[in-house]
Order: sequence, then C-alpha cells, then structure tokens
Amino acid sequence: MNVFDVGIIGGGVIGQGIAYELSKAGLKTAVFESGEIGGKATSAAAGMLGAHSENEKRDIFFELCLESRNLYPSLAKELLEQSGVDIELVQEGMYRLAFTEEEGRFLQSLADENELEWHSRENVLANEPHVSEDIAGALWLKHDGQVKGSSVCHAYAKGARKYGASIFEQCPVFDVIKEGKAYKLVTSQGVFICGKVVVSSGVWSGFFFEKLGLRNPMKPVKGECLAIKPKKLVINKTVFYEHCYIVPKKDGTVIIGATSYENDWDTHPTVKGVSELMIKVQKIMPEIGSEPVVSAWSSLRPQTADGWPYFAEHPEHEGIFFATGHYRNGILLAPITSLIVKDMILKTNQYERYIHTFSLNRLLSDAK
Ligand code: FAD
Repeated sequence: MNVFDVGIIGGGVIGQGIAYELSKAGLKTAVFESGEIGGKATSAAAGMLGAHSENEKRDIFFELCLESRNLYPSLAKELLEQSGVDIELVQEGMYRLAFTEEEGRFLQSLADENELEWHSRENVLANEPHVSEDIAGALWLKHDGQVKGSSVCHAYAKGARKYGASIFEQCPVFDVIKEGKAYKLVTSQGVFICGKVVVSSGVWSGFFFEKLGLRNPMKPVKGECLAIKPKKLVINKTVFYEHCYIVPKKDGTVIIGATSYENDWDTHPTVKGVSELMIKVQKIMPEIGSEPVVSAWSSLRPQTADGWPYFAEHPEHEGIFFATGHYRNGILLAPITSLIVKDMILKTNQYERYIHTFSLNRLLSDAK
C-alpha cells in the first residue's frame, strides 16, 4: 500500500538524514529520489565540517553550525553500528593560512582559548612541511573536522532502511496535491499518499516552492573540485586560503576545491574552473604541482536569497515542510537539520530557536 506517515522529496544528505531520524522515531517514512541516493551536491562535497572556516560572525547561524559539527563524533559511531558504513570522520582540525602580516594580524585577532589557535610560520611548517614557505602563519581551527559526504548520505540511507524506511530511486516527484488531511505525491512510479511531506530536493526545491504557491528562493552556485592521489607529498590536515582548500581524505586521495559560480546550472567541470583551482593550490603548496590528478567534478550548491537554509512548515499547507538551502554547508548541517525536522514533525519543542530563525518569514517578508 502506497501510504506513508512522511514522504521526503530528495535523497541527498539532507533527505536521507531526515529519513533516518524519522524512521528511527517510528514513523513510516519514504524517500523519493529522482536519480541515485546522494548523486548530486552531496557527492560533490569535500566534506569539511567547517563551523569556523565558514563563519567569522558569532551569530545564530554559527551556533547552528557548531552544534551540528559537535553531533558528528557520536553520529559516526551510531551510523557505523546501524549501517556498517564508516563516514570517515577526521578530527585533525584545519589550517587557515595567512600570507601577509596583515592577514596574520587579522587571524590572530580571531584566536580564542578553546577552538582557534594562532600558529607561527615555523610551527605550521613543522606540522605541514609542504605548505608554502611564504606563509606568515596560520590559524588552527582545532575542532573543524571532515567526513566523506557521500558516505554520510549512504550510512543514513542504510540506517533508515534498517528502521523500516522505503527509498525509491529513479523516482522523480512531479506534483504534490492536497488529499483530505494528507498529500498525494505524484511520481514516475505512481501515486503515494503521505500524511506529511518534506521538501529536501536541494537546489531543485525551488520547483516545489512555486508549485506550493511560494516565491522560489533557490539559486544554484556551481562548484568544481579535483582530486589528486599524491605519490610523494604527505598532507595531514585540511589547509585553506581564501576559497581554495586542500582536504586529505582517509583513503589517501586529496580533494582540492572549490570554484564558485552563481546562477550557473551547468554541471560539467570546465578547463577554466579546474585551471583556476590548479593555480590557487600551487600558491598554497607549490610541490603539489607534480602530483597526479585522478578526477574532477562539479555540482550545484543550493543557495537561498540570504544564504541561510530554511527549516520551516508551509504557512498555508499544514504538514508540508521545507528543509533546504544548505548552500556550502549541507554536510556540516545534516545532523542538526535532521533533528530539527523531526522536532517540527513530532512537535517536541526542542529547537524552537532555530525553527523561529530559519522559518519562511524571511522569504515572506523579504522582497529580495
Ligand atoms: P542534494 O545533495 O543536491 O540532494 C537533493 C536531491 O534531490 C538530489 O539527489 C536530486 O536528484 C533530488 N531531487 C531533485 N528534484 C527532485 C524531484 N522532483 N523528485 C525527487 N528527487 C528530486 N558542504 C559541506 O558541509 N562541506 C563541504 O566541504 C562542502 N563542499 C562542497 C563542495 C562542492 C563542490 C559543492 C558543490 C558543495 C559542497 N558542499 C559542502 C555543500 C553540500 O554539498 C550541499 O549543501 C548538500 O549536499 C546539500 O544537500 P541536499 O540533500 O540539500 O542536496
């Protein structure tokens, strides 16, 4: 029988995380994914858990990022037990480099006692000997770790299935139609009746905002990455400068990312984008130039008008929720997003602060 308590549109890391938490809580849950699980932005991500690397302001978005990042160590253990998938959590911290004295002074001003420590040039080079000798030093973001984004998504999906969730791949949702107190999801594999619906279809969520009578706040921000498999260089920590990062993964590959092009729906890595990364990365680590490139890829970050995500119920259609717009931080924010959506659906009042801030009021009141 095609009847579920909750139907989730989109099987990226956000949709699968929500499916995991809801099915674990005992709800009959289904995910509808138009392609393959985690096949879009989720598998393009470098997997950084950059609460600090993504935020200089100390606002509620930073608190959301920090809280989500801090959920990862216990989540990694739980998902390994439930799904057998290792999400490859690495907690080595990250180096944010300074090349000039002025950049150094700015980074030193950010240092604090708990999370952010200034390291001198000599100290950085002792830990990461292949970083450019031209640096002035670096801020060590001690607890900003990293994971493998696609593995988080697959671990959530396997765990959700274990708790009874149904996951339909190659199953695009075409329409959401009110049916009494529930909703009909019209898909390529037939019609499903869902008591509640969660829209978590990344940058394509815009289609459902419009279908459901709202302004479309989503815009794509194309990002390209490349991977190398170093033969000589040993890189221990994630290192970044401006928007170029070097992320050593557990399997020995190193991800170099990422370009950023607003309103570009193209998903092919281009010569221009890849060469931009190649130039920037050699400034950070000159010797990386002789290492073999193994792949390059590209995908679309789901950005909203103000850059913050939505965790919100539709103002007029009770039971329709949006969990989307995670832009550069969907892997980082998947754990807290899943718990917030569970809280909204089960009305357990744990995350009211976030639900208030990340509501659709921003969209309804903002003419941007
Ligand atoms: P997606 O992963 O795009 O999933 C949405 C899914 O919905 C897709 O699988 C799509 O097929 C499906 N869908 C769409 N329409 C329909 C429909 N009508 N019916 C059914 N299914 C539908 N984040 C970090 O936290 N750390 C990083 O280091 C990081 N690096 C990144 C690097 C790059 C190059 C890019 C592009 C992104 C990066 N991100 C990073 C951002 C992160 O990848 C995204 O924020 C996150 O993956 C968004 O997840 P999502 O599930 O919302 O979207």
